Amino acid sequence: MSEESRLRERMCDLARSLFERGLTHGSTGNVSVRTADGGLLVSPTGSSFGRLDPARLSRFDAAGNLLDGDKPTKEMPLHRAFYDTRSTAGAVVHLHSCHSVAWSLMPDIDPEDMLPPLTAYAIMQLGRVKLLPFFVPGDPAMGEAIRGLGGKRSAVMLANHGPVVAGKDLDAAVNAMEELEATARLALLTRGQHPKLLSPDQIGRVVTAFDVEWGA
Ligand code: ZN
Repeated sequence: MSEESRLRERMCDLARSLFERGLTHGSTGNVSVRTADGGLLVSPTGSSFGRLDPARLSRFDAAGNLLDGDKPTKEMPLHRAFYDTRSTAGAVVHLHSCHSVAWSLMPDIDPEDMLPPLTAYAIMQLGRVKLLPFFVPGDPAMGEAIRGLGGKRSAVMLANHGPVVAGKDLDAAVNAMEELEATARLALLTRGQHPKLLSPDQIGRVVTAFDVEWGA
C-alpha cells in the first residue's frame, strides 16, 4: 500500500472511530492531513465521519489547488490557517463535540485559557486552549482569527460551534482532540463543586518536564 493510500485509510478509520464514540455527529466535523508532496487530503463537504470514503477525499497540491476527489469542507479556512501559521502542523481536526461546546457556553470562562487545569495530560497535549468568538460557519473570518494567533496555539474552541486542533500527524491531532473533549467533560462534571485544580507550581512542572508550548 502506498503512503498516500495508508493515510487515506487512516483518516477514514480515525474519523469513523470518533463518530462511533459520539465525538461528532451527523455530517459535522472535518479533518485534513499533509501528504508527503506538501499537499493535503481533506474530508469532503457534507460527508459524515461515520462513512468517509478513502477514494473520495479531496486532494490538494502543495500550491493549494484541488486536484481530485469530492468538493472539500467549507471550513477549509480553519485548516489552512493552522498549516500556514504552524510549521509543525501535519494534521488538523475540527469536531462539534458535545462537552467541548457545552463548556464554551459557560459565562465565566477565560477566553485565553478556557479549560480549568484539571489533569497533566490536557496541559501536555493542548497547551492553553483559546476560546474564539462565534462566527457563521464558513466565514473566512474564522481562519483570520486563527491566523491572528500567530501559530502560538495548537488548539482553539469556536464559541457555540466546536473545537479545532492541530497535531504533528493524524494520530496526534485526534489524541489531542479527544483530550480536549474529555477535559471539557471533566470540567462540566466538577463545575460548581470546588474541584482541586492543579496549582501554578504543578502546571509549571508539567510545562517544563514536557516542553509544553505555554506562550501567549
Ligand atoms: Zn464546524
